[in-house]
Amino acid sequence: MNVLIVEDEKSLSHEMEEFLTHQGFNCDVAFTGKSASEKVFVNSYDFVLLDIGLPDYSGFDLLREAKDGGSDAAFIILTARSELDDKIKGLDLGADDYLAKPFSLLELQSRMQAILRRKHGLKNNVFDIGEFEMDINNRTVTKNEVLINLTKKEFDILHYLAINKNKVLTRMQLTEHIWGDIMEDDYDSNYIDVHIKNLRKKMGTQGDIEWLETVRGIGYRVNL
Ligand code: CA
Repeated sequence: MNVLIVEDEKSLSHEMEEFLTHQGFNCDVAFTGKSASEKVFVNSYDFVLLDIGLPDYSGFDLLREAKDGGSDAAFIILTARSELDDKIKGLDLGADDYLAKPFSLLELQSRMQAILRRKHGLKNNVFDIGEFEMDINNRTVTKNEVLINLTKKEFDILHYLAINKNKVLTRMQLTEHIWGDIMEDDYDSNYIDVHIKNLRKKMGTQGDIEWLETVRGIGYRVNL
C-alpha cells in the first residue's frame, strides 16, 4: 500500500516513514506543499498523511486541490494546533481523519486500519478468504491455525485482491500497489504472475484456492 507523508518536521516524517515501511507500506515523503502537490497528482496513494502547517502551503489547500483533482487517497490530517476549527475544516474538506500532534505511531496505525476497514466494509482485522484466514495486524495467512509461509509481496498481493474482492485488478494496478511508484520502463507484468503462481503453490497444498481467478488478458480476481 502506498503512503505519502507530507510533513516538514524531518524527525517526525522520518519516524513515520521508518515505522510504516516496517509495517509493509511503500512510503514517499514530501517536506513541502509544492513537492507534495506534484507527487499526489502523479502517483496513486492509498493514504496521504498531511501536515497542515507547511512552509510554503497550507495543508488545507493541498487537500482541496487533491480532492478537486479526483484523488481517492484517504487523507489523515496531522495538526499541531489543538483548535477544533482545524479539525472541522479538515473533515469538511473531505479528510478521513485527523491526529493532533504529538501522537503515537501505534495510534496512527490503528487510525489507518480503521479507515481501511470502513472503506472495504470489514468489521475487523481478521477475515476469511475461502478456507483460509487472513490477519492484517499480524500479516499472516493461516488454515486451521497452520501458518502459510508467504513472502511480504505475496501477502500484499493477496491482501489487496481480498479487500477488493469480486473486482478484477489489472497486473498494472497490482504492480503499482505493491511496488509503489514505478518507472514505466521497468514495468514487467511477469512479476505479478510469478508471485501469484507461488501463492497458488503455497496455498493450494493446504486447501481449495478456486476463489483466486486469473482473468485472461487482464489480471486477477478474488471471488468471495
Ligand atoms: Ca509543520
